[in-house]
Amino acid sequence: MAVSNDRSSFDRFHTSVRQFDVSGKTLLLPDMAPFGARLLAACFRAVGVNAKVMETYTGLALGKEFTSGKECFPCQVTLGDILYHLQKEKERLGSSFSPDRYVYFMPEADGPCRFGMYNKLQRLILDRFPEFKEIPIVYLSTEDSYATGGIMPPEESSIFRKLSYVAIIVADVMDRVVWRIRPYESRPGATDAFMAQAVDAMAATIEEVGAALNFPRLLDQLEEVVVAARNIADPRIPRKPRIGIVGEIYLRCHPDSNQNIIRELEKCGAEVLDASLGEWVNFVTFEQERKLRRAWKIAWLDRNHSRLRKVTRALFGNLIEGLYQQVRQHQVYRRALKHLDIPVDHSIRKIERRLQRDRLFTFDIGTEAALSIGGALEYAHEGFDGVVNVFPFTCMPSTICASILKPLLHDMKVPYLDAPYDGAIQPNRETALRTFVYQAKQHLESRTARTKR
Ligand code: SF4
Repeated sequence: MAVSNDRSSFDRFHTSVRQFDVSGKTLLLPDMAPFGARLLAACFRAVGVNAKVMETYTGLALGKEFTSGKECFPCQVTLGDILYHLQKEKERLGSSFSPDRYVYFMPEADGPCRFGMYNKLQRLILDRFPEFKEIPIVYLSTEDSYATGGIMPPEESSIFRKLSYVAIIVADVMDRVVWRIRPYESRPGATDAFMAQAVDAMAATIEEVGAALNFPRLLDQLEEVVVAARNIADPRIPRKPRIGIVGEIYLRCHPDSNQNIIRELEKCGAEVLDASLGEWVNFVTFEQERKLRRAWKIAWLDRNHSRLRKVTRALFGNLIEGLYQQVRQHQVYRRALKHLDIPVDHSIRKIERRLQRDRLFTFDIGTEAALSIGGALEYAHEGFDGVVNVFPFTCMPSTICASILKPLLHDMKVPYLDAPYDGAIQPNRETALRTFVYQAKQHLESRTARTKR
């Protein structure tokens, strides 16, 4: 393989990691969350972008081969996914493989985390392969709350933004239905088999009616899914201890990377709830509002009227967006809650108030640490019997969370487990999970005994 050490390759961070209209290309999406990624791809297809979710984790060896080991684990996994996918495409198509057909989608975040660097590092590595060098990387950024205007025409962008938010919340609800039903299913495997079909059917409907923003049709279908799923559970099985998961978004949502921690906890006798994708999107909107409020204050103090007008407009748009998200999220959950008692999502403002009241941490520090710490406290206050912090080994925000949550939850007598992952199999992992769920069962028993007294 030819290896380029050309320093000008750094220019390619601007020329080949960029935003441009991706209509007509094959957009390759990493499979971060099984339901979320599939429904998001369907939203892209609904507005005319041929999006495809790549097979995941099969290429991990490639991801590790082309990194040093110091990178964040999600960066290695996603790098493996894109290299594996492109190599397979090249093998499949032979001489008709054409790099112009593809665009690789790798979002980024502003702030102190290395997530903002994944797509740059992956650009350098793709550039080492002459046949993949011309494949551009396209991104959305938290810096502008994942604005999509740069990657599709304005009309499609406006539709996509509304549709993708609803699709993400629908995926969250479908996940929650699985986690609520699977531990109580009367026939092993029935929930997974049913939901795999339901997600495919939902993706097909999004593709069909998404461009018309036909939300009633999507919600009717979701309601039918919830009703049918409810019948899979055996109502005679008593309620199990409930475990809440917080942590780094990729690791906690990606079953291969977290070695299927939700299923493993379920096997040990727990019911599990993972923090949602919607929570992350709401958090990004909330962070944007905080930034705009700061900018507004500075412009006011500077008496900079043109800047003040610009920031006021942006802040107004952000508040409308936040309101839209709240209303849509409530609508989607309400349809499911008519039939099944799934947990509703944490409100970011409530998390902020809890952190402020107890003076434990602050969103001012940045990263998703505040979200995880606040989310874990919400679980504890909602009566969960244990909290697991799932994260990539060496992840900076999650290490902060671990150092704060461990003593805090210990004082609250809520079992807590750190679950770091880097692709290696830890020999005592199963024992750790079993011991943790045993503690959670004891927590449930003492909680139930207290309620009866
Ligand atoms: S959140 Fe953790 S895994 Fe993600 S970029 Fe930051 S340090 Fe890396």
